[in-house]
Amino acid sequence: MIMHTTVTEGVALAMPVSSELIDALRATMPGTVLVDEPMSRHTTFGVGGPADLYLAPEDDAALARALSLLYQAQVPVRLLGNGSNVLVSDRGVRGAVIRLTPRFAEIHREGSSLIVGAGAKLAKVITFAAAEALSGLESTMGIPGTMGGALVMNAGTDIGSLGDLVESVSFYTLAGEPLERAGDQLGYSYRHSALQGGDLVVRSARLRLTPGERSAILAKMERLKEKRTSRQPTHCRTAGSTFKNLPDIAAGKLIDRAGCKGFRLGLAEVSTKHANFIIAHPGATASDIRNLALWMRQRVLEEHGLELEMEVELMGDWDGWTPELP
Ligand SMILES: Cc1cc2nc3c(=O)[nH]c(=O)nc-3n(C[C@H](O)[C@H](O)[C@H](O)COP(=O)(O)OP(=O)(O)OC[C@H]3O[C@@H](n4cnc5c(N)ncnc54)[C@H](O)[C@@H]3O)c2cc1C
Repeated sequence: MIMHTTVTEGVALAMPVSSELIDALRATMPGTVLVDEPMSRHTTFGVGGPADLYLAPEDDAALARALSLLYQAQVPVRLLGNGSNVLVSDRGVRGAVIRLTPRFAEIHREGSSLIVGAGAKLAKVITFAAAEALSGLESTMGIPGTMGGALVMNAGTDIGSLGDLVESVSFYTLAGEPLERAGDQLGYSYRHSALQGGDLVVRSARLRLTPGERSAILAKMERLKEKRTSRQPTHCRTAGSTFKNLPDIAAGKLIDRAGCKGFRLGLAEVSTKHANFIIAHPGATASDIRNLALWMRQRVLEEHGLELEMEVELMGDWDGWTPELP
């Protein structure tokens, strides 16, 4: 882990959100301050109960102000990007959720590098890079996240991951201290980084790209988009791959061979197109999805003797939650 401050103590001593804190944020933090904001509005699964506080600061000064007030009040903080890799509990999130999208989304070129704000959507960054004839980001084509979430998750595909391109990442501790780390200090590996753990705020990254032919970059993007559309469910609520692949075999193959495709629990269903995707039908709950994921995991264990690890992250108040499996 990178961190280093009193995050764990902060969470252990977590205080409820007081009306004084809400008033102070509204009075002194330019940006959005919402109370009991349903997380279903901010996640690609479209599920998740209310966050006690939902903050979208307007700029760096506002972010610093929010962090300082929350830290002093010992309120737990979680960052949210596009909500495309999280399963938020039906009970919601205790404490504050901070979102840097759509602000904090600057993209600048410096030589062959791009400096990108954490709130920028990957799709915009790839399009910008292609227009500048810079190659490297194509491997993240079609991933519906923000730069912040993608840096934390080391998002990518079988042809490469974002971590391969990271020169450095700038972030804040939850106490508001600005820090920077070189890419090779961030422990990047398959869907893993030292930025995980929820105890920092990724602000921006410097990415090392390679000059290329604009037409070749655009053609590659198009090929990868078609490949994705042909293999994955589209136009429905998912959070991408539910489980991480194993070193020698894709999780989707194991789940398919265990006969899970099309299985439903409540209003959550294993995609018939890609067995590693769970589809949340309208009215699905986070519990439906988590129950289904546990059932898939159990089926794979029974059939193949292999344990799958969740790629989708559980967020929010899951304390005491008990599974209901068929
Ligand atoms: C249809 C679909 C296809 C997908 N395909 C892929 C794929 O091919 N490859 C892949 O790797 N993933 C894929 N995903 C998963 C997901 O899109 C990626 O993990 C993405 O990088 C998550 O970004 P996000 O902004 O949505 O992060 P979120 O889901 O909002 O957050 C993910 C994690 O990052 C943290 N976080 C977010 N922003 C910050 C920040 N600024 N500072 C600190 N922490 C932060 C959150 O707290 C959380 O822990 C897919 C998802 C969907 C819905």
